[in-house]
Amino acid sequence: MRFRLLSIILCLGLLFPGIDVSAKKQIKAVVVTGQNNHFWKISSQAFKIMLEDSGLFTVDIAVSPEAGKDMSGFNVDFSQYGVVIVDYNGDMWSDQMKKDFEAYAQNGGGIIFYHAADNSFREWAEYSKMNALGGWGGRNEKDGPYIYWQDGGLVKDMTPGIGGSHGPRHEYLLTNRDSKHPITKGLPAQWMHGTDELYDRMRGPGEIDDLLYTSFSYKEKRGSGREEPLVFSVDYGKARIFHCMLGHAGETLENNPAMQCAGFQTLILRAAEWCATGKVKQKVPADFPTAEKTSFRMDYRQKR
Ligand code: ZN
Repeated sequence: MRFRLLSIILCLGLLFPGIDVSAKKQIKAVVVTGQNNHFWKISSQAFKIMLEDSGLFTVDIAVSPEAGKDMSGFNVDFSQYGVVIVDYNGDMWSDQMKKDFEAYAQNGGGIIFYHAADNSFREWAEYSKMNALGGWGGRNEKDGPYIYWQDGGLVKDMTPGIGGSHGPRHEYLLTNRDSKHPITKGLPAQWMHGTDELYDRMRGPGEIDDLLYTSFSYKEKRGSGREEPLVFSVDYGKARIFHCMLGHAGETLENNPAMQCAGFQTLILRAAEWCATGKVKQKVPADFPTAEKTSFRMDYRQKR
């Protein structure tokens, strides 16, 4: 009898190779997208492939109506997900969806704000608190201070001016500012990120909880001349929030270096686990970039 049950399970595994027959509980993730000034069809697919390849997650992609269309029927049952990846920069969500998202965060939900998600919803105060720093959309000193790393700490600078800028895409060095956080523990102190935008002069309420990575924004690259906070967690209710300004999506999955970067993928995978559970059990991968050398997973899969 036991043998027959085992056979059935093995057969199911052969028929449906995506199903984990060990019945290990996978974390449910959802990518909220559908409007963006970026290639959201590429980024959402990239997230799905990299997260599901790890065996730790199942990924749904929630696609909003197109820009300008009726948003009232669009909502996500956030409560069924361990982690919500916000890959959205577009029309305002319905009042119900906003309320549900705030409740999800307040009650201890896990959220990843990814790249241009921090461009969204300037007028939604709770959203700005959740992602701590934002850019563009008319942002200025009314939205909060500039925040950057100087002399070993974070500076809040109320100088008037635009919020959000970046120069041409390039490879850049990320420096760890908290080696004890579960997401960064064991990762090198510095590593070279694949060609990407480097967001600078971001402004907002700025309740950064743990600052994880900064990078220097060179004036020669039309940057701020400051060490910019690019990756951090946010203090908001009981939520576990990971804000990642990295990852500008390319036009195709094959030409998408910021997301093909093994460093970016490692951060997302570890952050998604942390958002959902508060812990990170994943080992540091052998292909993690170094301070001297970038490293890429061209197919978004980790070699095992
Ligand atoms: Zn971008």
